[in-house]
Amino acid sequence: MNPYQGIDYYHLEDTLSDEERSVRDTVRSFVERSFLPLIREHHAAGTFPTEIVPELAELGLLGASVKGPGCAGLSSTIYGLICQELERGDSGLRSFASVQSSLVMWPLSTYGNEAQQRRWLPGLARGELIGCFGLTEPGHGSDPGGMETTATPDGDHWVLQGNKMWITNATLADLALVWAKGPEGILGFVVEKGLPGFSAQPVHGKFSLRASDTGELILDEVRVPEANRLPAARGLRAPLSCLNEARFGIAWGAVGAAAACYHHALQYALQRKQFDRPIASFQLVQRKLVNMLTEITKGQALVHRLGRLKDQGVNEAPLVSLAKRNNVAMALECARTSCDILGAAGITDEHPIGRHMTNLVSVRTYEGTHDIHTLIVGHAITGLQAYRG
Ligand SMILES: Cc1cc2nc3c(=O)[nH]c(=O)nc-3n(C[C@H](O)[C@H](O)[C@H](O)COP(=O)(O)OP(=O)(O)OC[C@H]3O[C@@H](n4cnc5c(N)ncnc54)[C@H](O)[C@@H]3O)c2cc1C
Repeated sequence: MNPYQGIDYYHLEDTLSDEERSVRDTVRSFVERSFLPLIREHHAAGTFPTEIVPELAELGLLGASVKGPGCAGLSSTIYGLICQELERGDSGLRSFASVQSSLVMWPLSTYGNEAQQRRWLPGLARGELIGCFGLTEPGHGSDPGGMETTATPDGDHWVLQGNKMWITNATLADLALVWAKGPEGILGFVVEKGLPGFSAQPVHGKFSLRASDTGELILDEVRVPEANRLPAARGLRAPLSCLNEARFGIAWGAVGAAAACYHHALQYALQRKQFDRPIASFQLVQRKLVNMLTEITKGQALVHRLGRLKDQGVNEAPLVSLAKRNNVAMALECARTSCDILGAAGITDEHPIGRHMTNLVSVRTYEGTHDIHTLIVGHAITGLQAYRG
């Protein structure tokens, strides 16, 4: 197979700065050198490769665009490029970095006070602390506003009671950002590992995102000090703004997963012979390859523009929803088409395509399902909200 050198049919990368290109190259070679040799084994075992966290941190890939103590505060486009290259490796790797960066470090820098930022951000950036984000509950996924987890004031503490489900990094995390209903609305808390009543259980038997830690957080009368409440986070708007940050990275990441599948299928089709010819010479196979390249190129154009808009301060949720919805569906379709091109070989873990394909089913569901993003964009263009009857 020819080594992966990226897909850039429309020369979109000509618009990147030297710094952006250099970060992209660094992440690409990290994935090639340190991550890809590990993923098959971890995928089979259903484990996240924690051994790569120190290198991820050393390369500055945790919270790269976050502003605050110990953080680089680089551009949104750089964050997007990081996500793209990480997800070329595996959606689980990008999920780890997304949660740490967009769902733990970003809320701390946006809604936390100075003391909280100084206390946790540097350790999170160095990978010495791992974070998770607890919003979804067993009974409340697409409608997190219906959450049942409660926060009851008790002197200079809060008592948290409830369960959070499907939480990435749940059992690895040193600190969980937990959203709970207080007397006057939704509040955010940093819940530290080891607090009495706080525990995490892994979800077993996953077909998808196997190399990612997914679990349940159990909060049984956990007493959390007022100093651990994010003072500027009030109402559902706060966790939704975090999701908007993460979805931006997912829209970029999906391009990486699609590019991995397309590259692999193209190389395979050039080598695999049937009827005495490479299968890449057949018109129907070429159509599949061209359709993939076209959709990847359109998805890339979308996120390159979105990155520039975000860096200019334009960050409306429906714009991000449109990109997440389109690019994840596009990547899943590319994975399915690539698997088809590999024939029987596509179903084994000797090739990365089946892994990307099953991963992308989760990516289509989490951070707002495909259909919920349809309704967010629908609301934006019609002014009419269709989520509720
Ligand atoms: C691997 C993985 C990791 C995750 N990590 C995290 C995490 O770190 N933190 C976290 O908080 N959550 C996490 N999640 C949870 C994820 O965000 C939810 O699964 C997602 O929001 C969907 O919720 P649900 O699974 O309860 O599905 P439901 O909300 O029950 O939806 C089921 C189906 O109904 C559809 N539906 C629901 N409401 C409507 C409507 N109004 N109109 C039309 N269709 C509708 C949905 O589109 C979907 O097809 C993760 C999930 C997975 C799979």
